[in-house]
Amino acid sequence: MEVVLLGTGAADGWPNPFCRCASCEDARRCGVLRGQTSALVDDELLIDCGPEAPGAASRLGRTLAGVGHLLITHAHSDHLGPQALLSRSWVPGVGRLEVVGPADALDLCRPWVGPGDPVRFTPVTAGDRIAVGAYDVRVLPAWHRVFSDGDAVLYDVTGPDGARILWATDTGPWPDDWFDAVRGAGFDAVFLEETLGDREDVSQAHLGLARFGRMLASLRLAGAVDHHTDVVAVHLGHHNPPLDRLAARLAEHGARAGLDGEVVASGPTSP
Ligand SMILES: [Zn+2]
Ligand SMILES: [Zn+2]
Repeated sequence: MEVVLLGTGAADGWPNPFCRCASCEDARRCGVLRGQTSALVDDELLIDCGPEAPGAASRLGRTLAGVGHLLITHAHSDHLGPQALLSRSWVPGVGRLEVVGPADALDLCRPWVGPGDPVRFTPVTAGDRIAVGAYDVRVLPAWHRVFSDGDAVLYDVTGPDGARILWATDTGPWPDDWFDAVRGAGFDAVFLEETLGDREDVSQAHLGLARFGRMLASLRLAGAVDHHTDVVAVHLGHHNPPLDRLAARLAEHGARAGLDGEVVASGPTSP
């Protein structure tokens, strides 16, 4: 399975364009620019599509023309920019698209679909397991919400090649009994939000470094993460320490920061 990280930043990106804090200035100096978090899997599955995702794909030399399935985690505006459906509809002979996500998120998409546009909606809730094309998708809960509890989800995706990944943004900290859903998963890669760095006071609905560490420890205890799992921090925001310090802090948890444009190869066909 090939996962292209179209973006690895929090909603405001990192650097936040309006900010001159040390972390934003450091990111600018290093030229490490992060846009809204989203991923393109095997050129056919798109996970989240905030307003920045389609342009990011183009700038990375990729196309979304092969995308037949869009998995939406939740309706926050950095994860869902439904206007992409309109741009897509302007392509002659455009293929079918299945949009999978919480019902509330799908409702925001419906006005952007024109008559005859081959878009199909598949509402899901945590606990569902569905076939999405050739992918086996388990829908997991998130301690994160938009309008009401349960309207944000995470995805556990197994590819046709057997590679299995966890897409966990936005999640917030899981209660202990939620880890049963991924017990023994032995993910090849985990993409876990680390939005807040040392500023977990900012929000209860996101992970910073401490909660990220605790969540990973619980995933390890459950056998969801093991020695071979590539643990990639995503949805990184400017509350994080500057990059070299962040790298060291994440390394303490056996994790690393994802980069925009990075290609993560997972599973049997990975090197
Ligand atoms: Zn977000
Ligand atoms: Zn969110």
